[in-house]
Amino acid sequence: MASFREITAPNGQRYQQPTGLFINNEFVPATGGQSITSLDPATDKPIATVDAASAADVDRAVQAAKAALAHPSWKLLPATDRGQLMARLADLLEQNRELLATIDAWDNGKPYHVAFEEDLTEAIGTIRYYSGWADKTFGQTINTTPQKFAYTIRQPVGVVGQIIPWNYPLSMATWKLGPALACGNSVVLKPAEQTPLSALILGKLIKEAGFPPGVVNIVNGYGRDAGAALASHPLVDKVAFTGSTGTAREIMKMAAGSLKNITLETGGKSPLLVFPDADMDQAVKWSHFGIMSNQGQICTATSRIFVHRKILPTFLENFKKAVESVKIGDQWDESTFQGPQVTRPQYERILSFIEIAKSEGATILTGGAAHALSDPKNKNGYFVKPTVITDVTDSMRIVQEEVFGPVVVILPFDTEEEAIQRANNTTYGLGAAVFTTDLERAHRVSAELESGMVWVNSSQDCDPRIPFGGVKQSGIGRELGEAGLEAYSQIKAVHVNMGTKL
Ligand code: NAD
Repeated sequence: MASFREITAPNGQRYQQPTGLFINNEFVPATGGQSITSLDPATDKPIATVDAASAADVDRAVQAAKAALAHPSWKLLPATDRGQLMARLADLLEQNRELLATIDAWDNGKPYHVAFEEDLTEAIGTIRYYSGWADKTFGQTINTTPQKFAYTIRQPVGVVGQIIPWNYPLSMATWKLGPALACGNSVVLKPAEQTPLSALILGKLIKEAGFPPGVVNIVNGYGRDAGAALASHPLVDKVAFTGSTGTAREIMKMAAGSLKNITLETGGKSPLLVFPDADMDQAVKWSHFGIMSNQGQICTATSRIFVHRKILPTFLENFKKAVESVKIGDQWDESTFQGPQVTRPQYERILSFIEIAKSEGATILTGGAAHALSDPKNKNGYFVKPTVITDVTDSMRIVQEEVFGPVVVILPFDTEEEAIQRANNTTYGLGAAVFTTDLERAHRVSAELESGMVWVNSSQDCDPRIPFGGVKQSGIGRELGEAGLEAYSQIKAVHVNMGTKL
């Protein structure tokens, strides 16, 4: 297969799409004969076909990363210069912002204006933030006795295998690469097979920024082949994964073979609590954003809304209005709030969850079905009506399982204790939100919620400076912020004896 293909996107962007595997700073063909054809979720039409890595290709990429780790051009590069390379990469992402937003919107289905304003801001900001950390992670000097002391140095973990999902294709890649590169590791990154395109442009920009060959390798491929080969490769020292909890379990087993260091960011069923003293407009606005943005395909989606019984009728009326007021459309319309779901299987899975809820006896307050756009070119697009479900009980599947779509359940509560207990009644623990104007209550409830993050009077705030991650079955470890560096360096202790006769 040729390494590049000339493409014109529906918004008129013309560009050269790399199609090979990015290994040693070159685009090379895969050897196993497998490929991935990416589809436009709004039309069900192909965008491009790219190479998919076999286990042998993954091995090639891992060997390249291993060699890069030992090469003086990376191993001996002063940390400040490493930071400079990353800063240059952030600048190049900025310069290619329109192109990258176009590709992610086309490939994933998210509105272009969202990809441009939110995903790209996050991607650029994350690389820029971690570029600043490259020369600011130090060890310690520790005095022991007058004759002896010890010092610690922070060293890279080694070759890192990074496996990412499709919901924020470029920004998930930067969350993984940022801390790994700041700490001097080398990387093999496997994007999701549903959204393989923008990561290849990222590879091109990594080379342009001046990173030595093999420091970052990007191999598209299927989870069961390329993903599994990466997670079980004996020369991979660490696996960083974002995706479903089920796949995370598989990865833990594979990583156990050579006792790899792992970090996992997985699924969620995050609660949002609205107390009777909450500002109703704020609660409705953020509850809506917290589940319906990004087509509901957010790991931290606040998909269980608990509302105090006293204010339930008003909340339901206003929330329904908010849900029904948004425009569902294709990625290129400036007024689109909700685009298509990422793939047909995801679309069908969401619709089947709605059917499960109906069969469990729940009420569909609004939505509850596929959505048809009037334009015939979108007749096979994967559009779902935003759906609000009531009359549910805590044990129903629709309340317990992650739908990963624009579907929310609303449950009444009577007391604070009850709300906390029911919010925590889940195997997940990623995000949680509290709406109240009572300061004491806000902090008391935040402390009690079993989650890695809490939003007070908000939902989905995310910032490169703030740690992100889950407890319980929502993950292991943290990404972003200073905490995100922990996973990518290890501490070596050096004991020094300065006494000549001791
Ligand atoms: P997924 O687990 O199916 O796939 C994620 C990645 O894992 C893909 O790159 C895939 O190719 C790879 N993979 C699949 N099977 C594999 C295997 N056996 N071995 C190795 N790799 C394998 O998840 P998905 O459905 O693509 O993504 C949605 C899930 O991701 C949701 O559960 C969501 O909550 C979660 N997610 C979590 C976060 C977070 O930070 N906590 C962020 C985004 C998405």
